[in-house]
Amino acid sequence: MSQPHRPAGEPTFRESVDIMFNRAVSLMDLSPGMEEKVRVCNATYTVRFGVRLRGAIHTFTGYRSVHSEHMEPVKGGIRYAMSVNQDEVEALAALMTYKCALVEAPFGGSKGGLCIDPRQWEEDELERITRRFAYELAKRDLIHPAQNVPAPDMGTSEREMAWIADQYRRMNTTDINANACVTGKPVHAGGIKGRTEATGRGVQFALREFFRHPEDVKKANLSGSLDGKRVIVQGLGNVGYHAAKFLQEEDGARITGIIEHDGALYSETGLHVEQVKQWILKHGGVSGYPDANHHADGAEVLEAECDILIPAALEGVINQDNAARIKAPLIIEAANGPVTAGGDQILREKGTVIIPDMYANAGGVTVSYFEWVKNLSHIRFGRMQRRQEESRHQLIVTELERLSADTGIGWQLTPDFKSRYLQGAGELELVRSGLDDTMREAYQSMSEVWHGRDDVHDLRTAAYIVAIQRVVASYQAKGL
Ligand code: GLU
Repeated sequence: MSQPHRPAGEPTFRESVDIMFNRAVSLMDLSPGMEEKVRVCNATYTVRFGVRLRGAIHTFTGYRSVHSEHMEPVKGGIRYAMSVNQDEVEALAALMTYKCALVEAPFGGSKGGLCIDPRQWEEDELERITRRFAYELAKRDLIHPAQNVPAPDMGTSEREMAWIADQYRRMNTTDINANACVTGKPVHAGGIKGRTEATGRGVQFALREFFRHPEDVKKANLSGSLDGKRVIVQGLGNVGYHAAKFLQEEDGARITGIIEHDGALYSETGLHVEQVKQWILKHGGVSGYPDANHHADGAEVLEAECDILIPAALEGVINQDNAARIKAPLIIEAANGPVTAGGDQILREKGTVIIPDMYANAGGVTVSYFEWVKNLSHIRFGRMQRRQEESRHQLIVTELERLSADTGIGWQLTPDFKSRYLQGAGELELVRSGLDDTMREAYQSMSEVWHGRDDVHDLRTAAYIVAIQRVVASYQAKGL
């Protein structure tokens, strides 16, 4: 999907995040110094490197931005897209800070990107480019198990993470924790089960939690459960595909619209997500897909009647230009920053309920946290087979609890997760229950602010307030 045109007068992505931050901060009692400390991006590293490919030297530009180091390591994905620029990585790094704070993943915020169209390169070429980029970042500790831990994002997947982990290992042969330098790795290369689907699964869990609160559902002019709800999803990449698939197969939602880079599909009776995905993988887009109405212009479907809209592609797709025409009463931001500050204001004024990105798509980093802990513990995560292993699992739980009490930096093991761990649940089951716990608790914390304060009227502001409070508490605990 190409970058949407930014309407005149619309702030940049970074400015948009700051506007939303400022709205929350205006309702908080922070000193101006602290407010600025939390808001600003600590550092952004830009690198330009050449790789000899197809007989010529090609120069690539990459970034790694560190927004906040109130906790370390800092965490956030690496994006491969032609639209990558400093403003974008800084906005995304800021969102990582708030996202991690909201779901209590004990990380600071970071993000990286490489200006590249991955479809233009062969796999072996991408591997050389990725390894070189990883080398440039790792030699400056911008990839490091204790300092900066990347993960997949748009245009990257477990394949790139495996290359990055291997590159780091080659550069740090004696580091026993090398595997923890990056998350989202393949399961057979130090990854964890359920990470690939985690962001989409988190969107599903977020919606389920929303629908467990009838008074919140009513605010969106909806009623009942997810069963039969008409859903339009923009982007059938990793996040949109898994979210739509799980909602269709497990919650009875009707996926009435799918928007992709080459147009959109619409069907009042519902589209078969798996079949559409297979069609896209085979044909490169939705064009020609049978059993649906085709729209050359995706905007028509984005603005169509539905119950739930899931923007799961790019930032800025709902903005000052089109927000007034969006009919969905409930939007869940599976992508980072899909609604601009201007768009957000228009939607709030007309009563649209938005489940904000920093909560909605936090499933990815939540499971990244489990993967990182698994890598650092060097113990198989899941079903116990021997008594000896059983006592080692108890040891880990005790140790993590002691660490949490000593440092106050939240090595949280929720009660459900802990009891399943000790009972010897399988890895995937542990990951899912841990994610479910996390999404429920984070919703609870947002909801307390949303309903508990007269001056907070939307979930995004509530999410920012919770996140900022936690970042501030962490800075204060350090004596800042
Ligand atoms: N790229 C994902 C995000 O935007 C995941 C980040 C991570 O797991 O560190 O949240």
